[in-house]
Formats: sequence, C-alpha cells, structure tokens
Amino acid sequence: DLNTRVSVASKDEIGSLSNAINDLAFELQRYRSSRREFFANISHELRTPITYLEGYANVIENKLYKTEEEKNKYLQIIQQEAKRMSSLVNDLFELSKLEEGRLSLQFEEIDLIEVVENAVSKTKIKAEQKGLTIGFSPTYQIPSIYADGLRMEQILINLIENAIRYTKQGSIMISLSSDNDKVIVSIEDTGIGIPSDDIPYLFERFYRVEKSRSREHGGTGLGLAIVKQLVARQHGSIQVKSEVGKGTCFELTFPIYKGE
Ligand code: ADP
Repeated sequence: DLNTRVSVASKDEIGSLSNAINDLAFELQRYRSSRREFFANISHELRTPITYLEGYANVIENKLYKTEEEKNKYLQIIQQEAKRMSSLVNDLFELSKLEEGRLSLQFEEIDLIEVVENAVSKTKIKAEQKGLTIGFSPTYQIPSIYADGLRMEQILINLIENAIRYTKQGSIMISLSSDNDKVIVSIEDTGIGIPSDDIPYLFERFYRVEKSRSREHGGTGLGLAIVKQLVARQHGSIQVKSEVGKGTCFELTFPIYKGE
C-alpha cells in the first residue's frame, strides 16, 4: 500500500534511506493519479465526438431531417467531429513522443524572420476569414538561433491559430527582438484574454479556460502542452501575459546561436 509510510525516527543512514523511500512512494502516487486523470480525460475527449457521430449518423439513416439543407448540416457536423477526433489522436501521438523523448529534432542555424513569415502566410487566410489582421514587419536583422525550422514554424502556427481562435476583433501582432544573448518572439492578440487564476495551468494537458468555448472553436486542449515541450526541447522558454477583455501576449525566448 502506497499510503503506508516508513516511519523515520533515526537521523543515520537508515533514517535517510527511509526518507528516500517515502519520497519515492509519494512520487509514484502522484504519477499514478496523474496517469489516471490523463486517461479519464482522453476517454472523455473521445466520447464527445463519438456521441455526435452516432447521433447524427442515426438521424440521417432514419431520415429524421426535414430538408436537404438540414441533412447537409448534419453531414457537416459528422465531418467536423471526425476531423476533431483525428486531430486529437495526432496531438496525443505527438505529445507522447515528446514526453518520452522519442521525437527527434533536426537542429540547424535558423533565421527566425523567415520562419515567422512562413507561419504568417499559412495562417493569414484564417485570420482574414474572421476579419482579423495579422501584422509582422521585421525592420532589422535578427541573430540566428539553433533550432528545428519546421518545429519552430509549428510552434508559431499553433500560437497564432490560438490568437485567431480567441480573438473576436482587432489584430494579431508578431514581433521579433533580441539582446546580447537571446532572441524574443512575441505573439500578441486583442482577444478575450485569460484570467490570471488560469495562467499557471495553461500548459497542462487538456486544460481549458472555458471548456465549451474551446470545443466550439475546434481545439483539442493539447496545443499548448505540445508547444511547451517543443520550446523546451529547443532550449527556449515561454511566458504569458494577459488581461481579460484586452488581449494576450505569448513570449518565446531562445538563446542566440554563437557557432558550435
Ligand atoms: P485548445 O485546443 O483548447 O485551444 P490549448 O492548449 O491550445 O488548447 O490552449 C489551452 C487553453 O488556453 C484554451 O482552451 C484557451 O482557453 C486558452 N488560450 C490559449 N491561447 C489563448 C489566447 N491567445 N487567448 C485567450 N485564451 C487562450
């Protein structure tokens, strides 16, 4: 039983060994409960789209719709939910590889201006469809970093897509800056913002500020957990500043590449 603690009376080797065993038992217990929670979350996340799939497939099979238009709407929902399940499975696979260190990165000297430009051009359409503008105007050169170019692009796309997802009107601004030893990328939006109480949990798997809102927008709840792992693997760090109703700013910091 993991709740049983070795009682520690002595301060000698036996005492410190007992302490070590107690710490291990505590860690194991924590690991088990987080594992349990993780699987409960996955089951829940999969059950929801499955319920929709079954429900609407049933409606169509039994012709329980009134118009052709209504039928098409249900078919659209089925497609959406299937897509959601597939992104969820992809994200889970990616996260598990990252957490176990099985994802290999291709490190090389990277010019972030190019990476940001690619990420912006791939997300521009989504922003424009929502009537949002994306701004990025590099006015000077930025020192290079040592990272995986495609993974850096993935991080930026993820953060920009979140910014689009959680912004109703206004703009998304991406900027690059540097000092003697680091490069900073910031992604700032004029969106709904994040309450300060939620910020410490933001990078946890499946954590969402508003469950229903995130679902509505098609998020898996794993995006930021993946981003955090990818940033760490590239020796960077990530910070969030946010004000409810005003907007959010994610800031990424990477060390400058100084040759080997
Ligand atoms: P999701 O797939 O739900 O977007 P993420 O891991 O990407 O999952 O983000 C976790 C939660 O953080 C989101 O559900 C949302 O509540 C919040 N969030 C992330 N980015 C932003 C942002 N730019 N503005 C406001 N809230 C955000």
